[in-house]
Amino acid sequence: MGKSTLVTGITGQDGSYLAELLLDKGYKVYGLRRRTSMPMMENIGHIAKEIEFIDGDLMDKGSLDYAVKVSRPDEVYNLAAQSFVGSSWDQPALTGQITAIGVTNILEAVRLNKPDARFYQASSSEMFGKAVETPQKETTPFYPRSPYGVAKVYGHWITVNYRESYNMFACSGILFNHESPRRGLEFVTRKVTNAAARIKLGLQDELRMGNLDAKRDWGFAGDYVKAMWLMLQQEQPEDFVVSTGETHTVETLIEIAFSHVNLNWRDYVVIDPKFVRPAEVDLLLGDSTKAKEKLGWKLEVGFEEMIRMMVENDLRLNR
Ligand code: GDP
Repeated sequence: MGKSTLVTGITGQDGSYLAELLLDKGYKVYGLRRRTSMPMMENIGHIAKEIEFIDGDLMDKGSLDYAVKVSRPDEVYNLAAQSFVGSSWDQPALTGQITAIGVTNILEAVRLNKPDARFYQASSSEMFGKAVETPQKETTPFYPRSPYGVAKVYGHWITVNYRESYNMFACSGILFNHESPRRGLEFVTRKVTNAAARIKLGLQDELRMGNLDAKRDWGFAGDYVKAMWLMLQQEQPEDFVVSTGETHTVETLIEIAFSHVNLNWRDYVVIDPKFVRPAEVDLLLGDSTKAKEKLGWKLEVGFEEMIRMMVENDLRLNR
């Protein structure tokens, strides 16, 4: 019999790529799904028949106990979160409940019901925030700059703590920004690629943006879920940084997306203070030497190729 796995956040970008990978490898995939009035199946509709969905929520401990009891997972991937940095200022306490305390809830469900399951926590480069060194690696101290970043620091440390307290196989993957055609429209990459496509098609006439000087280390989500899986296949549980080792400004991202459809971005982009954040993360650049050496992980899709792929996909969707 194949291994069993429980994935929280299965309907999100990463959940969908990870589910494809796990199904390919012969896993039985259980996905924790939050009940919403409108189904959120765009990312996983194509594989929904192969996934066993369990309705539940990181805030509802009973539902997590049930999910772990039913799935008897060999591996648990905690990808669920309030994951948008911008919203974390509007809903700081909710972000803390889900993105921080939610990690304890799922760890407890695993500890009490299937303590030998291997556990992956989706940690984030946002924990580095106002980065104290560049590039950032596993040993770089955290300095989060948003309620989201603060909550992710909690999630990281509670994962480390369960490993050290209970000897659980719990790993924290510190993933830098990772994008794809399945990225939510509120994130800057997809917002830009979708706008470039819509402006090209005459469906939109401007793009309102915040800070164009911020720099990010953007990789392709399809490559990053492979690192998650590899972390749980090691002999010892450890934490890893996953990044491309390249950084680009938001302006460069816009430039690539607009030039792909032969437009001059300066004719369309308007700065709107609404999209400027109360505190900014100016520069993220990761050093993933450890992941490359110990996991044998490698990048397949580069930044520019990914942005072009996203614009092409948005042209198709908007046509
Ligand atoms: P984050 O790194 O998780 O916050 O990912 P985002 O994709 O939300 O934002 C990346 C960077 O783009 C941040 O530094 C934002 O301040 C910057 N940015 C500039 N304009 C915008 C915008 O209109 N929307 C978003 N989401 N980010 C923007």
